[in-house]
Amino acid sequence: MKYCLFQHNGHPEYGLVESLAGREAITRVLLKAPESGGDVEDVATRPIPHIPLAEAKLLAPVRPSKIICVGRNYRAHAAELGNEVPQEPLIFFKPPSSLLAPGEPILRPKISQRTDYEGELGVVIGRRCHKPSPDEDMRSCILGYTAVNDFTARDLQKQDSQWTRGKGFDTFCPVGPVVSNEIDPWAGVSVETRVNGDLRQQGNTRDFIFPLDVIVRYIAEVMTLLPGDLIATGTPEGVGPVVSGDVVEVTVEGVGTLRNPVRDE
Ligand code: MG
Repeated sequence: MKYCLFQHNGHPEYGLVESLAGREAITRVLLKAPESGGDVEDVATRPIPHIPLAEAKLLAPVRPSKIICVGRNYRAHAAELGNEVPQEPLIFFKPPSSLLAPGEPILRPKISQRTDYEGELGVVIGRRCHKPSPDEDMRSCILGYTAVNDFTARDLQKQDSQWTRGKGFDTFCPVGPVVSNEIDPWAGVSVETRVNGDLRQQGNTRDFIFPLDVIVRYIAEVMTLLPGDLIATGTPEGVGPVVSGDVVEVTVEGVGTLRNPVRDE
């Protein structure tokens, strides 16, 4: 299934997204949050007059207690920034206050001279997970997948010995447009980023250094993953700067395109 979070009659509601005659539309409202437990396919729904997804006022489709990011999970990207291929996953946080809805402007802070897009596959956690047993299937912790732009003040990231400032500004975590459980990153999912329509990044999750089960287990050994938590799984090669007036699009195969303009704050 695919779902979104959208503004409906003055309230945020989760909507079931279906393809109708080749166009995606919101056809039903979910009567409880999809990450609230149980099988997401069993969540009760109520039909609504169909709303084309392109016309809906979308919100970021996640409400995470935390956003955990993986750095350098594609060899070619590690190399392009002059870094060694890591021996174990490199993780860091973005604050939930950095979340941004599809279509909303990413604001470049005045104190940064260089802000970069990073198109990534996002993983949405579906159940509580902490210190999993060795035979526990990490896929069962995953509710679905989305697109994330791990937007970065690259100059500030390089100045600091850790990345909270460079990664953590408000609006630096666009997410969406939907969450889907219909894709299989282990089999390969393409992740592409365009700036003003020009293709800048073209990766595939087949090329992850650490597959998702390794990443989820690694994180869950450290901290309790909670339903709704978001993992940004690392960006392929081709990162680069954007300026005010640019439009960044992150396309995850089977999820859709996350589009945000860039503005100076
Ligand atoms: Mg990243």
